[in-house]
Amino acid sequence: MDKRIDRLFRYLKKNLPIKMPVYYRIRPLKKYHGITYNNEDHYLIIIDKNQNFYQKIETVLHEMAHTLQRVNEKEEHGKSWGEAYGRVYRAWEQFNKELDDKW
Ligand SMILES: [Zn+2]
Repeated sequence: MDKRIDRLFRYLKKNLPIKMPVYYRIRPLKKYHGITYNNEDHYLIIIDKNQNFYQKIETVLHEMAHTLQRVNEKEEHGKSWGEAYGRVYRAWEQFNKELDDKW
């Protein structure tokens, strides 16, 4: 497990208003870069193992937005996902500022 990915996950969880616990796993996926399962009492995010570091970061940001978007949004990447992604992206920028030297 990549410690930097883990640090990013923990930062996002702490700094975003996500309503349920979020867990993640890094595993090989065939069709997708990432998947978010919206389970009854938690989210589970799977990140495709076969990506380079920067692709994994992109996937983490993308999937975290799914934990913030409106539950019943019809479009998978509609308006509320877009707004959620904006929030995640701002947290990511803040993360970079705060952890510049350790990153
Ligand atoms: Zn998506």
